[in-house]
Amino acid sequence: MSRVGNARPRPVTTIGLLIVMLGSVTMVMSTAGPPASAFAGNVHARMTIEALYTEDSVQSWSQTQFKGASQAPDVDEGMEAKAHCDNADYLASEDNDGKTYPVSRNKADFALATCVRYATVRYKYALDFADELVDASGNPKNITTGRNCRFDLNKGRPKCNVIEQLGRGWHAIEDFYAHSNYADYADPNKKVDRTNPPGLGLDAPAVKLWDVSWYVANMHNLNDMDKWTRQVASRRPSEKLATGCYPNYVNGTKQNCSGRTKHDHDLNKDTENTRRSRVVNLAFRNFDLAYRAGVTEIRRQWGDFKRDLSNKYGEIRAAGMVRALKLDKP
Ligand SMILES: [Zn+2]
Repeated sequence: MSRVGNARPRPVTTIGLLIVMLGSVTMVMSTAGPPASAFAGNVHARMTIEALYTEDSVQSWSQTQFKGASQAPDVDEGMEAKAHCDNADYLASEDNDGKTYPVSRNKADFALATCVRYATVRYKYALDFADELVDASGNPKNITTGRNCRFDLNKGRPKCNVIEQLGRGWHAIEDFYAHSNYADYADPNKKVDRTNPPGLGLDAPAVKLWDVSWYVANMHNLNDMDKWTRQVASRRPSEKLATGCYPNYVNGTKQNCSGRTKHDHDLNKDTENTRRSRVVNLAFRNFDLAYRAGVTEIRRQWGDFKRDLSNKYGEIRAAGMVRALKLDKP
């Protein structure tokens, strides 16, 4: 949601330890940042823990790690639009004072597709890394507490690796609800335009758009962005779905926000106090709509992840993996 560091992305390097599908995915090599616990209280952390708590208890040290991972992209991926679902802004001319909007629907879909792909890659990493959480019989192994995980995109302890990928991927999805008009409403007391874009008022989860498990199973060529864009466009629930413009990078291109719906002033619901957050339509306040939608979505993602662990590793090992993630001393 709100970003701490806006430094240019650091040089990237490819890690080749994953299957061919992920061969092109780059991970930012980060130098030491502040400990993740410094950002406690962030909305991402609250949403993530609330979603996990719906059906499972997550113990204290483990909770702290999930909280830290859920905030990590705001620390070291702040300039990557894909990690925050930024720059998928678009308006029909009827909502833009009759003028053609500077971003085409297709370009907005491309930006949205980079975000969906980002979350998909993180989920896939988490599934793969989970193999190291348990032995062949499903007994958790090498699960240590003590010092906090370092969420710097380098591999560390097995549990930290899985939580980092889950947390970063979920961050992007949570940001989708905070940064888009999916769940919110336009200010009913003002005309609709680029500073007051239409709100869709839709319920979460966004069943098809954010079916990350489906993308993992079906989108084997991560590099085919035309195909990603077509898939995501066909799964988006409305022509009017949009996020806001933020001056960071979409696939290496710095964004110019003039004439566009702005993340900062017009659309984000990162805190309870933004202009868009405070809009009330009927009995609903936009911040609450976005927050609840994010929690509902992450609950779905966690359920899907557990099911995919079972499908991939069998029920017994998967149950051990879930224990290893939730319990401090499994
Ligand atoms: Zn963010």
